[in-house]
Amino acid sequence: MNNAISRRRFLEQLGLAVAVAQAPGWARGADAPPAKQLGVALVGLGNYSTRQLGPALRETKFCKLAGVVTGSREKGEQWARDYGFSPKSIYSYDTIARMADDPAIDIAYVVTPNGLHAEHAIAVAKAGKHVIMEKPMCNTVAECDAVLAACKAAKVRHSIGYRLFWDPYHAELRRLAREQEFGAFKQMKGDRGFVMSTWRWRADKKLAGGGPLMDLGIYLIQGACMAKNGAAPAFVTARELPKTRPDISRDTEETLQWTMEWPGGASAEFTTSYQQNFDHFRAEAPKGWIDFKEHAFGYKVGAVETSRGPLQYPAPNQQALQMDDFAQCVETGRATPVPGEMGRRDLAIIEAIYRAAASGRREAVKTT
Ligand code: NAD
Repeated sequence: MNNAISRRRFLEQLGLAVAVAQAPGWARGADAPPAKQLGVALVGLGNYSTRQLGPALRETKFCKLAGVVTGSREKGEQWARDYGFSPKSIYSYDTIARMADDPAIDIAYVVTPNGLHAEHAIAVAKAGKHVIMEKPMCNTVAECDAVLAACKAAKVRHSIGYRLFWDPYHAELRRLAREQEFGAFKQMKGDRGFVMSTWRWRADKKLAGGGPLMDLGIYLIQGACMAKNGAAPAFVTARELPKTRPDISRDTEETLQWTMEWPGGASAEFTTSYQQNFDHFRAEAPKGWIDFKEHAFGYKVGAVETSRGPLQYPAPNQQALQMDDFAQCVETGRATPVPGEMGRRDLAIIEAIYRAAASGRREAVKTT
C-alpha cells in the first residue's frame, strides 16, 4: 500500500474522511494551524501526563498545553518553562476554582487516581471549563452521575480519555460491527494484565475503586462494547482467582475472570490480572473474525489479523487525535464519540461484574 492510499484508508477507517480538514497536520499533510488553539490544563502530572499527554499536546493542532494542576509548585514551574505557558496558569488541587478567571484555559483534563476523578472533574466544571476525564471515569456510577450533573449545571462539555477510538484497528473493529461484513459478532475473548511488582495506588480500593478490572479490564469491556455497536451486555458472571501476591492486592482483586452476555446470544469471556502479562482481544462472527494478537489495547496496537488476512495501518498518536477531536467538538458543538455517558456505561458494567464476583451468581447490568 503506498503512503497516499494508506493515509486515505486510515482516515476512512477513522470515519474522518469527510473531516480531513479537521485532522491534525500529520494526517492531512498541511502545516497551517487553525485560527485558535484551545488551552488545555492537565490535572495531575504523573506518568500518563508526563509521558503521553504532555508530549501529545506538542503535536495537537486544535489545542495546546496552557496550564497545570499539581501538588508541587516547583514541578508546575518546570512544566511552564518546558511547554511555554504562563506561570499564572499553575494551580494546586485546592485552587482549581480560580481557573474560572483564567482565559488561557478552555479544557481541563483530569489525570489523577480514579478515586479523585469525580472531585476534580466537578471542581473543573464549576470553574466553567470543559472536562476530559481519564478512564475509568470514576469509582462508581453514583460518582459518574454527580459529574454529569455538574457538567450539565455548568453547561460544559465532557469526554473520557478513551484513546482507542482514534486507533485505526479499533476503528476497523467498529466498522465491521456496524457494517456486519462478517455478520454480527457472537463470541469474544481476551485478556489484559501486567505484573505489578510493588504496591501502587492502582491496587488500592479507595484510590483505584478496585483492582485490574478498573484499570485494565475496562479496555476489554470497551472492545466488547465496540464489537456490539456500543450496546452494554445484559448479564455478567465473574470469579476472582486466588491471590499470589496478597501483599500487593490487599483489598482488591488480583486476577478476575468474567463473562458478558448480550440479548440475541452474543457472549464474551475475559481475564484481567495484576500478576500476568497479556493483552489480547478476538471477536468472531458467523462469516469471519478479527484477532488482536499483540498489544491489543496499547498506545501502538500491534499484529491484528482478520479472517481475510493481516491488517496494517499507520500508528497514530492516539492521545493527540483524541484531544484535537474534543477541542473540535467544543469549537463546533459536534458530539464526541466518547462522552461521559460512555464512561458511566462502563462503570455500570464494572459494578455488575463486582456484584457477580461477590454473589457467585449471574447478575443483570443496570445501565439506567
Ligand atoms: P500516576 O500515579 O503516575 O499519577 C497520578 C498523579 O495524581 C500524580 O501526579 C499524583 O501526584 C497525583 N495525585 C494527586 N492526589 C493524589 C493522591 N491523593 N494520591 C496519589 N496521587 C495523587 O498515575 P497515572 O498512571 O498517571 O494515572 C492517572 C490516571 O490516568 C488514572 O486514572 C489512570 O487510569 C489513567 N491512565 C490512563 C491511561 C490510558 O492509556 N488512557 C494510561 C495510564 C493512566
